Amino acid sequence: MDFLLSLFQQQISNIKSPAVIMYVNISESDIQFLPGVGPKRALLLRNELNINTFGDLVRLYPFRYVDRGSIRKISDIQYESSFVQIQAEVESVKREPKRLSVTVSDGSGELELVFFRGIKYITDELKPGSTFLFFGKPTVFNGRMNIVHPEIDSPRSGQDHGQGEKVMVTGIYQSSEKLKNAGITAKVMNKMMESALKRVLPEIRETLPSYVIKEKGLVPLRYALENIHFPKDEISLAKASYRLKFEELFLLQLSLLKQKYIRSRNSVGIMMKKVGTDFNACYNSLPYTLTGAQKRVIKEIRKDLTSGHQMNRLLQGDVGSGKTMVAVLSSLIAVGNGYQAAIMAPTEVLAKQHFRNISDYLKPTKAKTAILTGSSTAAERRKISEDLQNGDIDIIIGTHALIEDNVIFKNIGLAVIDEQHRFGVDQRARLWEKSKGGIAPHILVMTATPIPRTLAMTLYGDLDVSAIDEMPPGRKPVETIQAGEKQRDAMYGFLKRQIALGRQVFIVYPLIFESEKTDYQNLEKGYEDVVRAFPFPPYKIAIVHGQQNNKDKEFNMDAFVAGRANILVSTTVIEVGVDVPNASVMVIESAERFGLSQLHQLRGRVGRGSDKSYCVLMKGQKIGNESQKRIDMMCRTENGFELAEEDLKMRGPGDLEGTQQSGLPITLDIASLAKDGNILNDARAYAQSVLDKDPDLSSEEDRPLAAELRKNKYKLGGKDYSKIS
Ligand code: ADP
Ligand code: MG
Repeated sequence: MDFLLSLFQQQISNIKSPAVIMYVNISESDIQFLPGVGPKRALLLRNELNINTFGDLVRLYPFRYVDRGSIRKISDIQYESSFVQIQAEVESVKREPKRLSVTVSDGSGELELVFFRGIKYITDELKPGSTFLFFGKPTVFNGRMNIVHPEIDSPRSGQDHGQGEKVMVTGIYQSSEKLKNAGITAKVMNKMMESALKRVLPEIRETLPSYVIKEKGLVPLRYALENIHFPKDEISLAKASYRLKFEELFLLQLSLLKQKYIRSRNSVGIMMKKVGTDFNACYNSLPYTLTGAQKRVIKEIRKDLTSGHQMNRLLQGDVGSGKTMVAVLSSLIAVGNGYQAAIMAPTEVLAKQHFRNISDYLKPTKAKTAILTGSSTAAERRKISEDLQNGDIDIIIGTHALIEDNVIFKNIGLAVIDEQHRFGVDQRARLWEKSKGGIAPHILVMTATPIPRTLAMTLYGDLDVSAIDEMPPGRKPVETIQAGEKQRDAMYGFLKRQIALGRQVFIVYPLIFESEKTDYQNLEKGYEDVVRAFPFPPYKIAIVHGQQNNKDKEFNMDAFVAGRANILVSTTVIEVGVDVPNASVMVIESAERFGLSQLHQLRGRVGRGSDKSYCVLMKGQKIGNESQKRIDMMCRTENGFELAEEDLKMRGPGDLEGTQQSGLPITLDIASLAKDGNILNDARAYAQSVLDKDPDLSSEEDRPLAAELRKNKYKLGGKDYSKIS
């Protein structure tokens, strides 16, 4: 079968005619035809690892390497060891109802091997007194170390047996239960990889032009693939890995920058030449002077609005840095030029708060505003809809109710999206479609989730990025303290003293209902605790959580905002943007449950007024190393970007808050945004220089690049990203 296939492929690729557009190449051969795979395993490889072809397989990179040459002594194995290989004799085999427990010994110690499936086969094989090589990952169960489902091999002969004699480094690949059950063990994976490489490498096409390889000092693709799977030595592995990481990041940046280039070349933007009287009226009656950073950002935006191209700008600014005012002044520029503006917030609470604050700011102007949210009545909606179409509303504020189909604008010129990460990419696309005249509105996306530079370059690689990197004057640092259960009474005492000074307090919980698995403090129990510790009178407590109806939520929220309640007990619904300057303490219960950026967002709710503010991180009884590190980090710094970088390093980008909802536009196969920031910077600058010379990648030597960018991976999840942001 395999032979026939390769013969067929040879014939096809022998056809030299340029008219043949489709040609089969070994890389594109269906994975089922690889020896040892077949239709069943092929299906699994497809479903579990997204591997369809020989080429996909060789692009699955090891995430770790093990030395199969060395054999460890059982007595040397640490609990936290990664994969180990031992050579040991079977001492006893114990059959239990659902598992098979095999005890082996190598003279230095004993170890339990556990099997859950294929029991019959294993008992036949593992007879007491016989010796084997076992390979697997030790785990601890009930205080004892064992290896579950080790790979079993025939023993090495006497002289081979020893520690670290032979170096035989092989890769360990991502796997799954299903794959292991189908017999695709680490070893089988190595074999498959070997045979795929043997077929693919001789005719693999270099993905990078030769000038790139030369200028960047990279190893050729063939060498890289060979050594990433079966490294000759450490240096070859380093070279291979560098080449593949560079390739991945370079192509990604090339794709993003090319889209940005094409968009700016094609996109017509609404011209907003004037500043307008309303802008000036608002500006001149501001209760404070803008910070240098706010001024700079507004200038950047003005420049975009007069460029003739559509603005697509991301505005990053830490919590409390004053983004709202930037949104207001930008919207007034649109209004001053005869266009409407929309400001979208992720939650109803926030939309209402924006509406209140912005209405105040707009008092000196003639701009007309309205609010539209999920709880607007049908009659209100009808009226707003009419007014929007007549042009009787200049600035509309709202939630995602704004992007529903029946909301039509007369002439929307600017859309501001606050706390962008709560809005999906598709929702942004719908906003884009709101423009009636066919010219897309300018888009300003604002986020307080500080996105590390490396991540921003990837997530928003096709946007322009501005940052407010300066806080309004007079902000006092928030003092952050960690405390355990023993200090709870003292903490309550502290809250009482703060309340006596006229301040207000947030208490935030991670969960709403008792969860069986966890012993975390939960909101309901917590609420009861708080009520007991702070009885009415004199204390008034408001409660807000996601399971409440809007009316109750609003009632409680309003009570706190207006200062009628001393304490707000809530879940993370208050996470984004809520502004209560009189609140001086943020207590976060079970702080170990939160990620760094979330903790930072929560802490940002206090320290907004002139009083000294505090953040208390309450810790549970048992807390892991990582959690303790996060909490220590919070106590050490208030810099959101520093925390975000740290978060990225600790959790990996897939987990980073803010990217979870929107999703990284692509998944990286080998590079890491946390660790390979330097390569990323270099790859981006280099991609820019390539595009400066050949923006369409149409030259002969850049043709391989154009071909790579047509691959799905670089099409950003199959979505036409260029139209969206
Ligand atoms: P965020 O960037 O988190 O959205 P806001 O726009 O809500 O921040 O601003 C936080 C607080 O800072 C608000 O109370 C706002 O009135 C105030 N503020 C904004 N800009 C300035 C400034 N330049 N000087 C003093 N206070 C300011
Ligand atoms: Mg805000």
